[in-house]
Amino acid sequence: RHRIFSGIKPTGHLTLGNYLGAIRGWVERDQHQADALFCVVDLHALTVDHDPARIRRLTRQAATLLLAAGLDPQLCTLYVQSHVDEHARLSYLMECTASDGEMRRMIQYKEKAAREAERGGSVRLSLLTYPALMAADILAFGTEEVPVGEDQTQHVELARDLAVRFNQRYGTVFKVPRATRPEVAARVMDLRDPTSKMGKSHAETSGIVYLLDEPDVARRKVMRAITDSGATGAIEFDRVSRPGVANLLSILAACTGGRPETLAAAYGSYGALKKDTAEAVVEVLRPIQKRHAELCADPASVDEVLRSGAERARSLARPRVDAAYAAVGLLPVA
Ligand code: ATP
Ligand code: MG
Repeated sequence: RHRIFSGIKPTGHLTLGNYLGAIRGWVERDQHQADALFCVVDLHALTVDHDPARIRRLTRQAATLLLAAGLDPQLCTLYVQSHVDEHARLSYLMECTASDGEMRRMIQYKEKAAREAERGGSVRLSLLTYPALMAADILAFGTEEVPVGEDQTQHVELARDLAVRFNQRYGTVFKVPRATRPEVAARVMDLRDPTSKMGKSHAETSGIVYLLDEPDVARRKVMRAITDSGATGAIEFDRVSRPGVANLLSILAACTGGRPETLAAAYGSYGALKKDTAEAVVEVLRPIQKRHAELCADPASVDEVLRSGAERARSLARPRVDAAYAAVGLLPVA
């Protein structure tokens, strides 16, 4: 069975974008088809201004929600990144493989650095080196496939480049991974600002549907989505000229299993489209929220999943990371 790895940062409450772009595929496809590891990548959450108590809370919440969404510890491995030292150990070798220039070219670095600067804060060095840690996350497990939303494609490509470069320099240690993404809703946009990605760490929350939003809250957010001004009013699926409508069509398609292009033809008004999208979203969230509430009543079972997950992840990563240390010329422990 091939190896799949993916992760999610505890930087905020999980969103509909996280679910449709990544988590749903992990649940419905990946965990059944492959030896899949899913990780709450808490070290990555330290790359921006953070509150220790909040990170701790969000880490537990993310793990609980992933289980609530349907990850099954009998089928896959779920754990917390900082519980497995191999990530940080290998990250250093990735920093010694990557160049300063290729890190600075990362779109997400540019965007997030600009956002931090706007807030008047300084930019943490780890925000720049984050893709090296992400490459380590992926490569440590001999990962072949990385199911992510569209925004992470560039980072997975960097991980590919680093794997190839490392193997050429020091001998083959790593598999060369590739990113996969869902056909529909690989990039869910903010409902109030449909030219930017819905992101769980964004400060303006009115355009973000969180997985734990009450039905009425989720409904209201969808009903207040920006549709495209100055347009004819006809419903078309065009991400460039009609980003707001295209986003609603993508969300509705992803929630109901249709195609956005086909759905566009079925609607005559924004109102009907919004209403159906709102209901479809509420129906997707409902079972996740129910299961989440059950799991919250039994935190010890979540701890046990994370404990045994970390144990398995550690034992899978250790030999490859040791091999990488030896390959670059570090003297093995006698
Ligand atoms: P942050 O704002 O802190 O970066 P995020 O919402 O982007 O948070 P990540 O933890 O960075 O979430 O990403 C987790 C997974 O969710 C990744 O696979 C990412 O590609 C996917 N993802 C994030 N946002 C979206 C979105 N709006 N649409 C589709 N997929 C998304
Ligand atoms: Mg992100």
